[in-house]
Amino acid sequence: MSPLEQARADLPARPFIDYRDGQLMVEGVSAAELAREHGTPLFVYSKAAMLDALAAYQRGFAGREALICYAMKANSTLAVLRTFVEAGCGLDIVSGGELERALRAGVEPAKVIFSGVGKTRAEMKRALEAGIGCFNVESLPELDVLSEVAAGLGRRAPVSLRVNPDVDAKTHPYISTGLKGNKFGIAHTDALVAYQHAAALPGLKVTGIDCHIGSQITETSPYLDAMDRVLDLVDAIEASGITLEHIDFGGGLGINYHGETPPAADALWQLLLAKLDARGYGQRKLVIEPGRSLIGNAGICLTETVFLKPGEQKNFLIVDAAMNDLPRPAMYEAYHAIVPVQPRETETQTWDVVGPVCESGDWLGRERELAVQPGDLLAVCSAGAYCMSMSSNYNSRGRAAELLVDGDQARLVRARESIEDQLRLESM
Ligand SMILES: *Cc1c(COP(=O)(O)O)cnc(C)c1O
Repeated sequence: MSPLEQARADLPARPFIDYRDGQLMVEGVSAAELAREHGTPLFVYSKAAMLDALAAYQRGFAGREALICYAMKANSTLAVLRTFVEAGCGLDIVSGGELERALRAGVEPAKVIFSGVGKTRAEMKRALEAGIGCFNVESLPELDVLSEVAAGLGRRAPVSLRVNPDVDAKTHPYISTGLKGNKFGIAHTDALVAYQHAAALPGLKVTGIDCHIGSQITETSPYLDAMDRVLDLVDAIEASGITLEHIDFGGGLGINYHGETPPAADALWQLLLAKLDARGYGQRKLVIEPGRSLIGNAGICLTETVFLKPGEQKNFLIVDAAMNDLPRPAMYEAYHAIVPVQPRETETQTWDVVGPVCESGDWLGRERELAVQPGDLLAVCSAGAYCMSMSSNYNSRGRAAELLVDGDQARLVRARESIEDQLRLESM
């Protein structure tokens, strides 16, 4: 294979992000031109790729009552939120800050679901005043506090309990959330008692049940097992006289970073809906909270080669993006494909692609076959989810700029952070 053919084979988001005439294109726009105009590191998102990922879920739910709440922690940039909100999505939030972003993006408050194990009273109050659709509650003390806060406002908070089905999502331990040892959710065995407790509290209105078993799930079986476990609970809860209006099945569907083959969203939901139908819950309102699978492969991060540093044991390719921009390799040893923006038809060498941050953990890719020269642009693929939203100012590096591409138009949706932006809140 030629270097171009090799690079093309590594691209996880074709046809939206693909080569044309030896140049990496995001939809109809040249990546090299974007980098020239806006500098690097630079995140670029394809709107068509985002809507295509969403369409797979929408097809899967055709003819059903279902609300797709984009889990905005994956990428909470306003233009990304706006794109999904305009396409009909609700939003899954995990903090007061995300609530404000969600409202700013124009979401209908009734389509907002509030998840997370540590909601504060202030966050609860603000969310109640905004009129969000549901609180996904994760513990008994949270039920008590939420009831108190809601009663204090003369309201009843709509709640769903996040239950922990105790299934192994077969993913990285840091992003597995559905096992007994996790901090998330209410244990399967305690769920019925928790529901009875919730139903008796004056400030709550029980509306649903929720589960979320982990992230980057690439197999179907954990979902099917979790669905059975959740429906067992629904049977028991409803037998005790509590009605559940909706079933929220969380998010977690994986994407192709490096040859993974997760089920397509519509194929997965065909199986899950068959199970719901078989167990008599086919007409129940469904909520889901996908994050990564809607945005992960819609984005790339463009970065420029600063220096080549060949060595005795390893060759280092030093780029201008780093762990503060792309934290997943450092955090989870995650793999992102890294491809040249304009592949050279010369011999490749093996490189560790690293950033300038003063940490040995600051690497973006290990042992990659690349033909590069200083100044060459590279694209870090699958950078739409859990990159910009996890970015930091470590080493006093400003956050990257972000562009949203729609056809042959690219719009700057977040300016590059300046040193003044970084210093604004400080004083000596
Ligand atoms: C993170 C999270 C999601 C989204 O997970 P993805 O793997 O990005 O789809 C959904 N629900 C909850 C409660 C989460 O914490």
